[in-house]
Amino acid sequence: MALLGCIADDFTGATDLASMLVRNGMRAVQVIGVPEAGVSAPEADALIVALKSRTAPVAQAVGESLAALDWLRAAGCRQYFFKYCSTFDSTEQGNIGPVADALVAALGAGFALACPAFPANNRSVYQGHLFVGSALLNESGMENHPLTPMTDANLVRVLARQSGGTVGLVPFATVQQGAVAIRGAMTALKEQGRRYAIVDAVTDEHLHAIGEAAAAHALITGGSGIAIGLPENFRRAGLLEPRADVARLPSLDGHAAVLAGSCSRATLMQVGTARAHAPVLQLDALATPDAAALAAQALEWVEGKLGATPVVIAASAPPEQVAALQQKLGREGAGVLVETALAAIAEGLVARGVRRLVVAGGETSGAVVSRLGVRQLRIGAEIDPGVPWTYAEGAGTPLLLALKSGNFGAPDFFLKAFARLG
Ligand code: ADP
Repeated sequence: MALLGCIADDFTGATDLASMLVRNGMRAVQVIGVPEAGVSAPEADALIVALKSRTAPVAQAVGESLAALDWLRAAGCRQYFFKYCSTFDSTEQGNIGPVADALVAALGAGFALACPAFPANNRSVYQGHLFVGSALLNESGMENHPLTPMTDANLVRVLARQSGGTVGLVPFATVQQGAVAIRGAMTALKEQGRRYAIVDAVTDEHLHAIGEAAAAHALITGGSGIAIGLPENFRRAGLLEPRADVARLPSLDGHAAVLAGSCSRATLMQVGTARAHAPVLQLDALATPDAAALAAQALEWVEGKLGATPVVIAASAPPEQVAALQQKLGREGAGVLVETALAAIAEGLVARGVRRLVVAGGETSGAVVSRLGVRQLRIGAEIDPGVPWTYAEGAGTPLLLALKSGNFGAPDFFLKAFARLG
């Protein structure tokens, strides 16, 4: 039976959280979307339901989150976690407040802490204010985010505006005193009728203490950072045994490939670095603005090249080339064309015996996973921070997948990923 049931408001955030839990000793499986009622839960200590609810209409985000909660409850989880971005990505309407309100009510919890701090990624909360490095959230560039502009760094205010409940603060001075003081402060806020406490945290030590203080909470909300202290609670309670194989995935023979659809600097660098070591095909969507034709070209190109050394197929291009395609097809049209082509190529590669696949790009990963019919990922060891190998299990062809958000990973990520598999 699973111990921790998590609901994540986006796909890469779900993987990030799952990876954090694996690193701290829990076996984790991420499911994509809410499984149909009656689908039995996989064997794991933590289950993470990955939604796409961050910028969905409020009612839809709430509905999907409650459906995820129902499935996790049926799986027997003992504690629940609502995962959002460490930059608190949301609008005045939500979706963090409304989803948290609905989960608090459904669990009869009355209260939940909220802590997006993630010191390892430079996100800290001090006096209720969220910092990205040394900048306040609203001066960090997040104020210009196209979908969720964050113009107020005071999370007590931000959450209060989105929520039907009131919000208090557990300040730094209390957090520094450790778990007992934090627990006392949270209890006092709950007794005063507050529904939430923003909890300050600047270091991992703070996150461990907050985690310990929340051992008995039905619901915890935050970024993946705050999950760091939760596995230890289950070990302390004798519910989670230390084991050496938490990150072990089944091994799979088969060919190796990389599909790159991200145009971020990190991914462009990774494609460049791979050129010296592996065959690389650069797709030219401007010359061939047709997804099926691009896919056919790529699958012809791989003929005779598949094996243990990965082939790399990239649509990734520098800004001026992206702009040229967008000018021709529109921003969305360009994205859909490339995503459709890469998804079709992924399908063709699997049909040709590829079983180890790295995908670069968040949206690209979503398109590939959806085309391959992947519903469930068991989380393995990290290749680089935030990017683990995963094993697609359940229905469909078993695959080893590394799904990389564009900006993640070192320049040698593609080759390193396969070297890690041995
Ligand atoms: P990231 O994680 O870096 O944001 P995504 O995969 O989420 O990467 O987004 C990259 C987007 O750019 C995708 O929609 C992809 O289809 C699109 N794209 C990839 N290559 C090109 C290109 N050469 N021209 C225009 N758009 C492209």
